[in-house]
Amino acid sequence: MVDEARLRGARITTHSNTSVGIERVVLAGVDSVEHCPGEPNEKLANLMAERGTFHTPTMHTRDRWARRLQNKERTLPQPIVDCILKERDGNMTFLQQGKKAGMKLVCGSDSGIAPEYGTSARELEIFVECGYTPREALATATTTAAESFGVPGQIGVLAPGALADFVIMKKDPAKNIYVLREKGNIIQVYRSGLTLDPLG
Ligand SMILES: [Zn+2]
Repeated sequence: MVDEARLRGARITTHSNTSVGIERVVLAGVDSVEHCPGEPNEKLANLMAERGTFHTPTMHTRDRWARRLQNKERTLPQPIVDCILKERDGNMTFLQQGKKAGMKLVCGSDSGIAPEYGTSARELEIFVECGYTPREALATATTTAAESFGVPGQIGVLAPGALADFVIMKKDPAKNIYVLREKGNIIQVYRSGLTLDPLG
């Protein structure tokens, strides 16, 4: 399947949730993997770094569930709660292993499933909580994301000839990632060079 897609010049991504599944698709040569293995796996992080496979962990989904359960906003049978918390923690360790290995990390939402649109800033906060610098976290939603889509230099950068999609803020998220979620921090949003109402 990967070979056929390559013949047609397509990029390939898979949604995989286990170490075994992710290793298989990485070895098959996919460009990117969505979701996490649910457990620490240094060997897999090293393999993905070596192969240059992009990783879009969609951590926000599990993190949101884990937080709701920890705050008792939702209840589930204890074995399921234990499993969700263990997977969330395992995924965070996997991202730390990925950072050490040099794995290429991308911000993604698994949109259509969860969480809601417009909440990707939380994904970047989680990356910082895993040990990435705010600047590295921002790259996952800009330059590295563009690279993973096969359009480096066209999106995710401010450069001549690139699509002018950008946000002007009062406070610098490269210093404090949490200011991304402060609506009062946004001065202006541009899409393809045109202004958008930041509160619209
Ligand atoms: Zn998915």
